[in-house]
Amino acid sequence: MNSTGIKSAYDAIIIGAGVIGSAIGFELTKKGWKTLNIDRNPTSGYGSTAASCAIVRVHYSTFDGCALAYEGYHYWKRWGEYLEFPDEKGLAKFIECGCMVYQTKTNQYLKKVISRAEELNIPFERWNPAQIKSRLPIVDTRQYGPVKLPNNKDFGRASNNDLRGSIFFPTAGYVNDPQLSAHNLQRATEAKNGTFLFNSSVTEILVRKSRAFGVKLSDGREIHAPVVINVAGPHSMKINQLAGVEEKMNIKTKALKVEVSHVKPPYGFDYEKQAFIVSDSDIGCYSRPETGNHILIGSEDPECDERIFVDPDDWDENFTDQWNTQLYRQAQRYPDLPLSSNIKGVVSLYDVSDDWIPIYDKSDLPGFYMAIGSSGNQYKNAPLAGVMMAKLVEKCEDGINHDRDPLSLHLKYINREINIGFYSRNRKINPESSLSVLG
Ligand SMILES: Cc1cc2nc3c(=O)[nH]c(=O)nc-3n(C[C@H](O)[C@H](O)[C@H](O)COP(=O)(O)OP(=O)(O)OC[C@H]3O[C@@H](n4cnc5c(N)ncnc54)[C@H](O)[C@@H]3O)c2cc1C
Repeated sequence: MNSTGIKSAYDAIIIGAGVIGSAIGFELTKKGWKTLNIDRNPTSGYGSTAASCAIVRVHYSTFDGCALAYEGYHYWKRWGEYLEFPDEKGLAKFIECGCMVYQTKTNQYLKKVISRAEELNIPFERWNPAQIKSRLPIVDTRQYGPVKLPNNKDFGRASNNDLRGSIFFPTAGYVNDPQLSAHNLQRATEAKNGTFLFNSSVTEILVRKSRAFGVKLSDGREIHAPVVINVAGPHSMKINQLAGVEEKMNIKTKALKVEVSHVKPPYGFDYEKQAFIVSDSDIGCYSRPETGNHILIGSEDPECDERIFVDPDDWDENFTDQWNTQLYRQAQRYPDLPLSSNIKGVVSLYDVSDDWIPIYDKSDLPGFYMAIGSSGNQYKNAPLAGVMMAKLVEKCEDGINHDRDPLSLHLKYINREINIGFYSRNRKINPESSLSVLG
C-alpha cells in the first residue's frame, strides 16, 4: 500500500516500451520505483522507435530545444556508462559523423540557430560552397528552392546562384540501431527490478476516487498502480481519450504518416564513411549515411506537401508518391544519385503535437501523466525525457502543483536549467517552432 491507498505490486505503469517509455522506466527504477512497462508489441522498441532515423542533432528552432538536444548528445556519447548494465544483444552505437545545415531563406540563414549555438557553447563551423564541395564532392550547391512538387514545371530548375553556405555541427550523429537502444534500456531497467509485459494491449484507464489507479488489458486483466504514464507514441491520443484527459488539453496530438527513402549514393562515393547528416531546407529533405553505404532520405515537411493524418489502428502502410518525391528532390543536390525504382525504406507514423514540440507533463486526472507528441524529433532526447518525467512524476506525487509553479530541470552536462513548463499540455502554440520535424 502506498500513500494513495492503492494496493498494487507496482508504483507506476508505463504504457509503451519504445525508447522513451523504456527510458522513463529506467529513470524511475533508479529512484527505487517499482515500474511496469506494458506494450502490445512482442518486445521493446518495435513501435515508431524501430522506424526512427535516430539522428542526434543539436540545432532546433527554440532555445529549450537546442539545450535539451545538446544535453541529450552527451548521454548518447556515454551510452554504456549511462545504462550501468550490459545487454546480451550488445549496445547500440552512436556514430558521431556531424551534421551540416544549409543556410537558406527558409531558415533565415540560421541566424537564430547560430546565436543559440554561441550561447550554449555548441561547437560549429561555417562552410562556404567551395568548402562544402571539398567535403562532399557529389554535391551541386546551386539554389533550387522554394521546395516544389515534382509535377511543378519549375521542379529541378536551379537559380544561377549558389546557396550562401552551411553550418557544420561536429557534435551530432546517429544511432545505428534504434530498436536495440530501446532494448538496452529495457535490460538496464530490468537490472533495477523494473518489469516489462509484452503482447498486452491497454484498453482502459482505471479511475477510482477521481484519480488513475491502473489499466485494464484486452484480455480483461486489471493491473493496479497509483501512477499511469502515457508513452504510447502515435497511439498517444487514443490513450488520452481512454483517460478522458484530451478535451481539457490546449495542445493535442495526432498520428502522421511518414516515409523514409533508402537508396544507393552516387557511384564511387563512400557515403557511409565520408558523408554526414544533412538538413537541406532548400530541397525539403534531411538525409544521413546508413550502414551498407546507403543514404536515408526523409522529408522536412515543406508546405507544398500534403500531410496525411491517420487513425493509428487503421491506415495504409504502403509507400506513396512521397518516396519518389524525396528521391527526386535529393537528386537535385546530388545530380549523380541513381534514380532507383527499387522502393526501399520505411513507412511509419509520427506522433505529432499541434506545434511539433513534445508534451512532457501531468494531466488533469491525478496520477495520469504523459510523454507524447514526439513529432519525429525526440529520439535523441529519450534519455532526458526519462530524467524529466521521473522528476515530474515524483514531485507531483509529492504534492507540487506543476501547473501553477512549473518545475525546472538541471542539465548536468551543459550546466543549464530548463523550465519543464515549456513542454506543458496547456501551453499556447509556440510561435518559434518550425511546425515541422525540425521542432
Ligand atoms: C520515420 C521516423 C524517423 C524519425 N527520425 C528521428 C530522428 O532522426 N531523430 C529523432 O530524434 N527522432 C526521430 N523520430 C522520432 C522518434 O523515433 C520518436 O520520437 C521516438 O521513437 C518515440 O518513442 P516512444 O517510446 O515515445 O514511442 P514508440 O516507439 O512509438 O513506442 C510506443 C509504444 O507504445 C505501444 N502502445 C501503443 N498503444 C498501446 C496500447 N494501447 N497498449 C499497449 N501498448 C501500446 C506501441 O506498441 C509502441 O511500442 C523519427 C520517427 C519516425 C517515425
